[in-house]
Amino acid sequence: MTSAAGGPAAVATGDWTPSSWRSKPIKQCPEYPDEAALRRATAELDQLPPIVHPHEINRLKQNLRDVARGEAFLLQGGDCAELFDYCRQDRIESKIKLLLQMSLVLIWGANKKVVRIGRMAGQYAKPRSSPTEIVDGKEVPSFRGDILNGFNLEDRQLDPQRLVKAYNHSAATLNFIRASLSAGIADLHGPLNWSLGHVKDPELKAKYTKAVHFLQDMLRFMHTIGADRASELATVDLFTSHEGLLLEYEQSLTRLMEDPTHRSRDAASDGTSSSSAQYYDTSAHFIWIGDRTRQIDGAHVEFFRGIANPIGIKVGPTTPSTDLLELLRTLNPDKEPGKITLITRYGASKVRELLPGHIRAVEGSEYKRCVIWQCDPMHGNTRSTGSGIKTRRFGDIFQELQETLAIHQEEGSYLGGVHLELTGDAVTECMGGSEGLDEDDLSTNYTSFCDPRLNEKQALELAFLVADHYRK
Ligand code: PEP
Ligand code: MN
Repeated sequence: MTSAAGGPAAVATGDWTPSSWRSKPIKQCPEYPDEAALRRATAELDQLPPIVHPHEINRLKQNLRDVARGEAFLLQGGDCAELFDYCRQDRIESKIKLLLQMSLVLIWGANKKVVRIGRMAGQYAKPRSSPTEIVDGKEVPSFRGDILNGFNLEDRQLDPQRLVKAYNHSAATLNFIRASLSAGIADLHGPLNWSLGHVKDPELKAKYTKAVHFLQDMLRFMHTIGADRASELATVDLFTSHEGLLLEYEQSLTRLMEDPTHRSRDAASDGTSSSSAQYYDTSAHFIWIGDRTRQIDGAHVEFFRGIANPIGIKVGPTTPSTDLLELLRTLNPDKEPGKITLITRYGASKVRELLPGHIRAVEGSEYKRCVIWQCDPMHGNTRSTGSGIKTRRFGDIFQELQETLAIHQEEGSYLGGVHLELTGDAVTECMGGSEGLDEDDLSTNYTSFCDPRLNEKQALELAFLVADHYRK
């Protein structure tokens, strides 16, 4: 591990500040060529307003408490690597619509409220297994996400001004998400595409058609009686999230703030207006620690332990159960239910061997019924085709999800959500699904700059398959 360069002096262990991570060993740390330019960029970020508000973060926390209790389901999805170029009306709308459409299917199936979080408006930093890669026989710096460098070979040098550009693109994306949602869920329902022409299996098609008719009838009925315009249903929440990888950026957006609604509640109950200021990372509502940066003594865990946001931890084949408990004790010493989402990603062939041990370790400890178990059936199932194209098989993705559902049922725990890489566009990056995409189809519309995503049909199909599990 290298040490994070620059920034304020290190603080003593135990004394958390937004910059205390700088005294810890760090993985995936960018080596900026120009320190002065980095300082100028972070000084600019320090002055910019929060992207999200503590009030919204606390609303998400309340929702996540319901998930931890087994009363709601968490749907989280979006691109592996969001690009600045995705900050466009059509791309944002297609993703919002897909997440809403999937959540309708899940509400119908699980008969529970669905909490929605997009991997959107800030998912710009990517961990890489190697700092360089070979392109056309030449060694070049790897693409590390738009917040650090560009995909084009001439843009591979790290550029600190991209930190400010990331802020601007996150803010513009979230502004349009908020505007679209406040314009009304009814407007978003209208043109939903439920076409099932691609589903060839007659039994599956009949099942989906029945569900779609039910949902369409329900939406029509709500519209007729004006229920879709009533305050509860006129708008829906869509929270934002990203991997909290680039700590320079996260530190600048971490602010000591109060949630005004918490303050007024305090004032009303005891006549005083005691301060409830906490450090909120205002870059997004929810951030997570990736599989490569969850070292207990490392910089990322140090940063995450001080923020009030709900957070995720990726858990995989390389996570010992003892680490898991130590992480929970470090990151959630107060045992707030729903504060931590464990995002499990083992791969279809390993989940049966590894998940039960993790469940028993956590549910047999003081953290019983405190965490949210979420299945990421994507990251343990990435593979390369013979010609070197990164892909995932729909069958593997579904198998890991199905095994995860079954294991939680056997262990008496609750699978509270799914974490997916998806796009609202008709890409051909994952194989399989009812469309029957095979290896030869991958080149038709493969546009991901990082991991392969489910297209809108595959994503919706996965939602139907989960719904089906609950309706059985
Ligand atoms: C990701 O979610 O895109 C990712 C890199 O996942 P993981 O940290 O689980 O490998
Ligand atoms: Mn990914």
